[in-house]
Amino acid sequence: MAVSGLGPYDPQNIFAKILRGEIPCRTVFENTFALAFHDIAPKAPVHVLVIPKGPYVSFADFSTTASDAEIAGFTRAVGHVASLLGLDEAGYRLLSNMGAAAGQEVPHFHVHLFGGAALGPMLHR
Ligand code: 5GP
Repeated sequence: MAVSGLGPYDPQNIFAKILRGEIPCRTVFENTFALAFHDIAPKAPVHVLVIPKGPYVSFADFSTTASDAEIAGFTRAVGHVASLLGLDEAGYRLLSNMGAAAGQEVPHFHVHLFGGAALGPMLHR
């Protein structure tokens, strides 16, 4: 699915390279459906990216194209990672940039998981 200027899936995007082990990452969790790793430029004390294993460009692509098993597995993995990081009690923020207006930089669907501090207002304008 090509949406919002992202084009078709590019297997040379940086997260595809991380999934293939061609570029290192600081892994937090991995299973059949998802890989979670620390963001290289953290914007909160905890800033982890959770990505599906399959080749999905964006949330729009993932939510319409992925199987129910992939969507369930990925969603459960995101929650599991938050628990693993000890964020359930204090709380955390999930964010996914989709396309140009949101400033999505990497064309492999990912969820940002922020925590470890009071995160302030949802959007800065
Ligand atoms: P987006 O703007 O696409 O929602 O977010 C992309 C995120 O990927 C950014 O927060 C950026 O810091 C992170 N990122 C970009 N390249 C790398 C990389 O090579 N390794 C890791 N761990 N994170 C990266």
